[in-house]
Parts: sequence; structure tokens; C-alpha cells
Amino acid sequence: MSSHNHPYGKSENVLGFGEDSKVFIKEEPLKDMFLHPDVKHRKIVAFSIIGAYRKGKSFFLDYCLRYLYAHYPSINYPNNPVSNPTNWMGEEDEPLKGFSWRSGSDRDTTGIVMWNDIFLHTVERTGEKIALVVMDTQGLFDNQSSPMDNSKIFALGTLISSIQVLNLSGVIQEDQLQYLQFATEFAKFAASSSQGSNGKCFQNLMFLIRDWENPDDFACGIDGGKNYLENFLEVRSEQKPELKSVREFIHNSFDELSCSLLPHPGKIVTGVKKYKNLMYDGSHSGMDEDFKDELIILIDHLLNPERLVFKKYNGCNVKGFEYHEYVEHYFKLFQS
Ligand code: GDP
Ligand code: MG
Repeated sequence: MSSHNHPYGKSENVLGFGEDSKVFIKEEPLKDMFLHPDVKHRKIVAFSIIGAYRKGKSFFLDYCLRYLYAHYPSINYPNNPVSNPTNWMGEEDEPLKGFSWRSGSDRDTTGIVMWNDIFLHTVERTGEKIALVVMDTQGLFDNQSSPMDNSKIFALGTLISSIQVLNLSGVIQEDQLQYLQFATEFAKFAASSSQGSNGKCFQNLMFLIRDWENPDDFACGIDGGKNYLENFLEVRSEQKPELKSVREFIHNSFDELSCSLLPHPGKIVTGVKKYKNLMYDGSHSGMDEDFKDELIILIDHLLNPERLVFKKYNGCNVKGFEYHEYVEHYFKLFQS
């Protein structure tokens, strides 16, 4: 990583709900990001995580940022990567920075928070130029926000991401799936206003299960997650019709569904046990070994240059300036 004198990037709460429940958008930072001369003509990859508060979303994303800074140049660091990408986790006692994690102060920020540094990549095989944006979506499945606000935020997040990670704790619950259908229908309705499509509107959805406690049934990681999700989403003849239809709907809405099971990170990460007699700073020496191993595999799987998924509207890849128009368009739609 470059020296600390450089701006690492910062998080911008670009879309969200104000106290009056009205949707807000911050036009200036969005313009600065997507109309940037080195972004506006690049194809967009939009990586997003969504879920309830206090489930380790920002913590996870900050390790994703570490991976990204070690592998890709960015707007703020055009000469990156300076370090050896295979060592992307960094020093074992390096404090974790990026999206603010653990803090209680931003509890009432509901909405989409973007990282204002954008990562740049050229696909070797095709020469395609990519701009990758990272976002943290706060407040879904949270009983502090109304179900309507929750589904609007999920819909907006789904509409503007190409890789959506749905962060859940423990297991997938049936009511979460039904809720997912409701929110996805909302997003489809919004998409049809501009895309007019009935088919699969959205790209990749990954269920990320934290604190997985049943490794004897399904092993941790991506393969175990695949089996778990298949088992959970299987349509069975004896199922009630509404349980069947929700499963069919989810299958028909996304190009690719996946799942990953992460073990519990250990008592230091959850704050139960002191870290070197201090407050835990997020460094990876505080993680349980098996959690760390799975985290490394998962992030490499998600953000590997070979696997990046383009944002599509109407089946076409979108460039930075078009993406900017879409974000504004959807914002206006949800504002009313
Ligand atoms: P967010 O509100 O979902 O963004 O959660 P944060 O990333 O701010 O993390 C909230 C707390 O959960 C912090 O104390 C983290 O150290 C801790 N944490 C991080 N990862 C995990 C995990 O996988 N499981 C559990 N139980 N806690 C975690
Ligand atoms: Mg957070």
C-alpha cells in the first residue's frame, strides 16, 4: 500500500433516506466519480453489500478494499499496485480502515454509501476497460426502518449493482426470502419503467452467511454454500404454493445466484475478548485462523480480475456516464 500521506479514499453517503423518510441524492460526488475523465467511458462493475446493521458488512468490505488496492490502480492511486498482490491481506497488525465499522455513530444513516475512489482495470483477453465501484448499503432487515424504506433501499441497491452480496447472520430465514421477493419485485417494477424487460433484470446475487454453525451439514466456503443454497431454494412438490413461487421468482430474477458460508470470526473480532489488552483495531491477527482462511478465499473469488461482472441495463454493459444517468433516473423514480 502507498504511504499514509495519500488519500486512501473516503465513503460518501450518496443515496439514502433523510429523517423525513424522503430519498436524498448527493449529485456532486456522484458526478465527480462517474464523469471523471478516466471513468466515464469505462464499463462499470458495481460491487455492493447489503444487510442489517452490526453484522460485519463494513468490516468485510474493508478487507475487500485491501484486496482491491493491492490488485488494481485507482483514481487516487494511478500507479498502484505497488505491493505484491499475493500478500494483499497486509501486515498482521495493520489496523483496518475504510468504511467505518463497529461505530455506533452512523446507526441512523440509512442508504447507499459509496467508496469515492474507483478501481481501474483492463481485461487482458479483450482489452475492455473497467471501472469498479464499491458500495455499502445500510439498514436492510433492520427494524428501525420501515419495511417500505427497507425495500426501496434494497431495490435501489439491486438496480445499481452488478455483484450484490446479501449479508445474513446464522442461516437464511424463510421470511427473509419472502422479503427479498417483495423488494426484488419493487426493483423489477422500477427497471421495467426504463428497460421494459421481463426477463432476468439483475446480475449476481451472493448470499453471504456469517457465523455459520453447521459445518457438519454444509462445509464452510463457496462449495458448501452452493449446496446449502441449492438445498434451501429447491422447489419441492409438498411445499406450499407461496414458498414455491418465491423460489421460482428468485431464480428467475438474477443471472447467477451463489452462496458462501463464513465461520464465526472469533471472540476478539466480536469484542468479547480483548485484543492485546486493547480495543480491537480490525487487524487480521485478531481473527480466528479458519475465518481468516475462508475470508481470503472468498474475497479472491469475488473480486478476482477474471470474475468481474459488468453492470447491465437492457442486456447491455453500461459505461460510467450512462451509469450516472441511471442512478439519477432511479433516484427520481423513488423520490416520488
Ligand atoms: P455492519 O453494521 O454490518 O457494517 O457491521 P460492522 O462491520 O460495523 O461490524 C460490527 C461488529 O461486528 C464489529 O464489532 C465487528 O468486529 C464484528 N464482526 C465483523 N465480522 C463479523 C462476523 O463475521 N461475525 C460476527 N458475529 N461479528 C463480526
Ligand atoms: Mg456498516
